[in-house]
Amino acid sequence: MKILGYTDSENTCDCGKQGLKGVYIVETNQGETLRLGSSCVKKNWDLTQKEFRGKINEAKEQRIKERIIFIKPFNDNFTNFQRQNPNVSKYTIDSPLHSNFMELFTTLKEARIKMNIELPFIVTK
Ligand SMILES: [Zn+2]
Repeated sequence: MKILGYTDSENTCDCGKQGLKGVYIVETNQGETLRLGSSCVKKNWDLTQKEFRGKINEAKEQRIKERIIFIKPFNDNFTNFQRQNPNVSKYTIDSPLHSNFMELFTTLKEARIKMNIELPFIVTK
């Protein structure tokens, strides 16, 4: 099994238990996706607390890698432009390259927003 994420916007375990702080999104070895409280994750896969923390850390590292891969091309485009045009910025509105700058700047900003929605950090206390 693999922990894919955690969300505090859902509070009911698939077993029916309610009032949880959040649920873990777990992918089983059969490819099924479950939403479970921490005690059910540990119980269903017979994990010690240490093994459970290990699974969460794997999920965190995986997510960080996914975020880096996602944002890299946007960051690279923006950084390369800045390197080649160090005098162009948000404030140099008279520059002929101002609209190019703004386009890359906005694209990067939108990509960051998308990344935070689609690839949020695995949030755990
Ligand atoms: Zn449960």
